[in-house]
Amino acid sequence: MDRQQEFVLRTIEERDVRFVRLWFTDVVGSLKSVALAPAEVEGAFAEGLGFDGSSIEGLARVYEADMLLQPDPSTFQILPWRGETESTSRMFCDIHTPDGEPATADPRNVLKRTLAKAADMGFTCYTHPEIEFYLLKSDSLDASGRPVPVDNAGYFDHVPGGVAQDFRRTAVTMLENVGISVEFSHHEGGPGQNEIDLRYADALQTADNIMTFRTVVKEVALLEGAYATFMPKPFSDQPGSGMHTHISLFEGDTNAFFEAGAEYQLSRTAKQFIAGMLRHAPEFTAVTNQFVNSYKRLWGGGEAPSYLSWGHNNRSALVRVPLYKPSKGQSARVEYRGMDSAANPYLAYAVLIAAGLKGIEEGYELPDPTEEDVWSLTSAERRQLGHDPLPSSLHDAIRTMEESEFVADVLGEQVFRSFLRHKQGEWDEYRAEVTPFELKRNLGIL
Ligand code: GLU
Ligand code: MG
Ligand code: MG
Repeated sequence: MDRQQEFVLRTIEERDVRFVRLWFTDVVGSLKSVALAPAEVEGAFAEGLGFDGSSIEGLARVYEADMLLQPDPSTFQILPWRGETESTSRMFCDIHTPDGEPATADPRNVLKRTLAKAADMGFTCYTHPEIEFYLLKSDSLDASGRPVPVDNAGYFDHVPGGVAQDFRRTAVTMLENVGISVEFSHHEGGPGQNEIDLRYADALQTADNIMTFRTVVKEVALLEGAYATFMPKPFSDQPGSGMHTHISLFEGDTNAFFEAGAEYQLSRTAKQFIAGMLRHAPEFTAVTNQFVNSYKRLWGGGEAPSYLSWGHNNRSALVRVPLYKPSKGQSARVEYRGMDSAANPYLAYAVLIAAGLKGIEEGYELPDPTEEDVWSLTSAERRQLGHDPLPSSLHDAIRTMEESEFVADVLGEQVFRSFLRHKQGEWDEYRAEVTPFELKRNLGIL
């Protein structure tokens, strides 16, 4: 047993931990959990915990159903919302095959593979997400069947005594208690919409943090009598919920994206990384924007990007290079604005980072930046400037991903196939629906 495992066992004893939850994630990013009695943890470290993989979306085919959960002791945390005495804790797990090999179908493993590749190229990859979500009144829909936000405030509004303010205070404290540092939190543009930005961390840790974040936010919302949703676009006339992610690569202690005196202070490595994300974005958008509803955000305004472009201070850009003081070279980073809050963070970070690395490997040329509003150009102007559109629907995104050797390679054949199968199923269900839009449009007149 290693020192981290010993530390976990000792903490379980000293803190009187009653349940140890083992957490992992299915292919679409749903959190899965199994509670273990403390006495079983030592055995789980030694041999893994067996479970039926065929019951988990995208994990195993029925004839190879037995899988093992291998707890990662470095992720051990007490869950503060379950109380101080007889407390509950959790560890994220890697999924192994019965012969102890990492399962290729495990989303956490997909990201680990990409990060190992970054390490082979000499890079450590840091990420920091800005996570947007809506707080809704629990169990209430208005007369037209729409959910009801908890307030009517807007961007950076301070609402005295509002639910959102109490909520953010409790949520941020709870996040800090589970070891997740928060940089900012504020009211976002839509009514009831909030944003919490996590401090940068290694990309695998960030993905784990996002899974924990969603649980904490939902739990705290319930405590405040509200309901939190990460749905990409709950209201057609309000901004959607994005999960913009800032990415930087470090070589040792040096930020590989920074070059003093260069245009935008961006190194060649940074430019090639951006070029990789732009070139492969249409292929991986089904992963970063995985629901039918995701495309209502991408094509519904509200500062969500719709076209391939990059810029310095341009909210319509897919990739933005944030401003920073020349003395702060270590904070050089690029912000990918396409992803939404409902993505599977392991798979989404894997494709995003792998696309950037491919840009570096292949020496992709970065097109010119755009400082104008891409939405205000005519389509001919956009075509001329090379601002191709992102996929316009889940269907379009699936078709583009199906053709992508790059995405198949990053996800691995099994995740690639099961993800596409699952998403095709969602699209088939959606297109068979007769929507309120059609009824309103057609019923009275045809
Ligand atoms: N809510 C916007 C989106 O869906 C982003 C607003 C912002 O710039 O923070 O991407
Ligand atoms: Mg925002
Ligand atoms: Mg942003």
